[in-house]
Amino acid sequence: MSTSGLDVARVRADFPILHQEVRGRPLVYLDSAASGQKPQAVLDAITHFYAHDNANVHRGVHLLSERATEAFEGAREKVRRFLNAREAKEIVFVRGTTEAINLVAQTFGRKHVGPGDEVLITELEHHANIVPWQMLCEQQGARLKYVPVDAHGDLVLDGLEALLTPRTRILAVTHVSNALGTVVPVKELVRRAHAKGVPVLVDGAQAVTHFPVDVQALDCDFYAFSGHKLFGPMGIGVLYGKKELLEAMPPYQGGGDMILSVTMEKTVYNRIPHRFEAGTPDVAGAVGLGAAIDYLEALGREAIAAHDQALLAYAEGALGSVPGVRRLGHGQERSGVVSFVMQDIHPHDIGTILDREGVAIRTGHHCAQPLMKCFGVAATARASLALYNTREDVDALVRGLHKVREVFA
Ligand code: PMP
Repeated sequence: MSTSGLDVARVRADFPILHQEVRGRPLVYLDSAASGQKPQAVLDAITHFYAHDNANVHRGVHLLSERATEAFEGAREKVRRFLNAREAKEIVFVRGTTEAINLVAQTFGRKHVGPGDEVLITELEHHANIVPWQMLCEQQGARLKYVPVDAHGDLVLDGLEALLTPRTRILAVTHVSNALGTVVPVKELVRRAHAKGVPVLVDGAQAVTHFPVDVQALDCDFYAFSGHKLFGPMGIGVLYGKKELLEAMPPYQGGGDMILSVTMEKTVYNRIPHRFEAGTPDVAGAVGLGAAIDYLEALGREAIAAHDQALLAYAEGALGSVPGVRRLGHGQERSGVVSFVMQDIHPHDIGTILDREGVAIRTGHHCAQPLMKCFGVAATARASLALYNTREDVDALVRGLHKVREVFA
């Protein structure tokens, strides 16, 4: 039992993948920011769906289709509760954060962003929250602007009002930086953007895994996250959107399920959220995501948050004890990841040597090349923490880093 009240030994027992050796060493998985592992409950829910309920949704009159539809819509209700959205129709199932942001850029964006308009993002963003806006701006003749980041990894918010001009049509911002761990004060950003009439999209890919998120309290207009990072399946994700906004948005993709009626001349589009879910959805993915949410809620999201914070503090301290290690990201509030460089050793070499010790971390630009440029590095090594990680995992990382030093001595 950790000090947070989370019984991590019991949690670990729920994740079969963790109990294996890699390269002859016990696996130490410190790459959950890239993709989280799945508890047995999620694997069972997916298997159960395919073994008992599999059929297409919203279409058949037969019992299996009814059960599949119930499972799918039941998962939507679980996501609604998880984010504290007002209504289940505000939850759109997509492939992941990337697709959620592309959907908003190509529907809301194409409708509201015109020549000479501006889209505001930040220097902290993952490519998933940069490229769709660059594409939109190119298509529409609009301008992409960035809220700058300071040397600690915090956004510089002094100049925010000046960046929010009468031409700004949307602000898109990450909740937690995947590269530095900075927690962005999104509630404050939403308040300040709304004061200027600007809607806000929040990229929550790295936030929902670590602490409770309440979209009504944040008052954000859109919120996106990926199932696979939340210990659910790959290929499923969520776009939350305020009902009034979603209802006024044109469809994303055309096809089955997003229509009410089709004639040879014209289509009447379906209501939300189905208008944005063309074609057969990943029903098993949604069911698995629902199971992941049940799992996290049963453990207690506050307990998970406390564990993650305590372990992050431990990891930051432990890495600080390794000579030559320089941590990047000293933002006021941080979550989930420790990003670092080590003298002039290439991060890929660090990752490769650690891998031989059974320690899995991520190295590279973390799909945040503009941010790396701000910090004057091409890449970092990044260890990321989750509810099943322990101090022993961090100690194994530190031992591995001492090996790295020996190799390069
Ligand atoms: N935003 C952030 C902050 C992320 O960390 C990631 C995944 N690394 C994404 C967006 C993209 O998520 P996905 O690949 O699941 O669509």
